[in-house]
Amino acid sequence: MATLATETNTFSPVSTGLRNYNDFYLRHGTATHDPPNLMTEALHVWRTRGEALDWKITESLSAIAEPAGRTTRAAYAALKEEIVRDLRAACPVDIVLLQLHGAMAADGCDDCEADVVAAVRALCPRAIIGVALDCHCHLTDALLSHADIVICFKEYPHDDASDRAEELFDLALRTHSGEISPVMALFDCRMVSLFLTKQGAMLDFVAKMKATETEPGILSVSLGHGFPWADLPDTGARMLVVAHSDMAVAQNTAARLGRAFFDLRHHLVPDYPDLQAGLERARAASSGPVVLADMSDNPGAGAPGDAVHVLRELIAQGITNVASGLYWDPMAVRQCEVAGEDAEIQLRLGGKMEPASGQPLDISGRILRIISGLGQHLGAGLEPLGTLVWLKMPGDIDLVINDLRTQVYHPEAFEQLGIRLAEKRLIVVKSFFHFHGSFSGIASEIIFCATPGRVNPNTGLIPFTRRGMNFWPRIDDPFAPDAKPAERAGV
Ligand SMILES: [Zn+2]
Repeated sequence: MATLATETNTFSPVSTGLRNYNDFYLRHGTATHDPPNLMTEALHVWRTRGEALDWKITESLSAIAEPAGRTTRAAYAALKEEIVRDLRAACPVDIVLLQLHGAMAADGCDDCEADVVAAVRALCPRAIIGVALDCHCHLTDALLSHADIVICFKEYPHDDASDRAEELFDLALRTHSGEISPVMALFDCRMVSLFLTKQGAMLDFVAKMKATETEPGILSVSLGHGFPWADLPDTGARMLVVAHSDMAVAQNTAARLGRAFFDLRHHLVPDYPDLQAGLERARAASSGPVVLADMSDNPGAGAPGDAVHVLRELIAQGITNVASGLYWDPMAVRQCEVAGEDAEIQLRLGGKMEPASGQPLDISGRILRIISGLGQHLGAGLEPLGTLVWLKMPGDIDLVINDLRTQVYHPEAFEQLGIRLAEKRLIVVKSFFHFHGSFSGIASEIIFCATPGRVNPNTGLIPFTRRGMNFWPRIDDPFAPDAKPAERAGV
């Protein structure tokens, strides 16, 4: 078993090298000695299940990098080679279980998951290969052709990694015993967007997928949401059905569910206000704290995490009593470490990584706290935060600046420093949705805002060159023979 995971934003000019994996999470066969994180939860489950059956287990690489641009050719070659080398040493094996992301691209390789699984298949032609993916994956025919069973997280925010790992283990075990013979089919939903599963129509659709799994002959149902900011031919939502032995059942079920999902499209995605409209709503709120998601600078989708567009506007509008983070700026962190706690400091913040970061912002404030080595929870997993700096600016604006690119998952990213979020009027977080569960308890209102930046959630506006433009929301009905551009490409 092994983990290899990053989500590649091919529009980002920022390379992902071995150093980025090392900074975030890199273990060579020892991930199950650590507490689990989102992408290693599966390894913990598989080890526990396998040891209970007295299996001999070989644990290989666990490599996770915060999303950015493509992984470098050298880094990808080294990571893949480590998995291949460990597997070769362990052969012959009965079952290979992999937790991959599903949207990893490297220099010279558009579909790293298919490439890794092909290498595993070449070494182990008769082994059962099970692959667990993040739902923000590109489900490709190439990947399916080399694997026996592929399943994705069903939930976004992702809180079902362990459940999916259990499911994959069960299916691999039943396949190994000869009880089932999995076949897989895909349906291209012709949709490119983000789908939060915790409310409304998506909540019902996830329930529908689970209900379908109880139908005769159906083993597993996944919706690959797709990762929008990847300029690749297969980007977009796909329905995946694993059935027992009957390909027609898999194909028909994938098509039926895929069309049902497509038919819900106008109910799946909110109308995201732009920055001005978002701040207007925040100002109009009668009580605090309002949480505003700076969606377009979400490092979790490959944005730089050092954009200061929102902060600049907060200052311009004189909005006070705010907490905002996480600003990724190692140079600013270093300056703060040199100055020390309680120092007054002038900083040139953010705006350094790439054009989407915008221009840096000159600010001043008092350094109230500097802490290293803390984490923030995402479900059961603990995600690293690097070194955190609490800077208090005039107007009671509390910034959290850090040196490890990561989105905000949990109030812990602020509160462990001493920032009292409940007393704030406005909290601005760089994230899409993962913060939602843990912040909803303190927020009077949550505003998902299409701020300026690299990953603007209006996906109809993404400038694909290698992917066809026949997708919703760019086209209202991409299945129609005379498909026309939608009136509002940015839903
Ligand atoms: Zn994801």
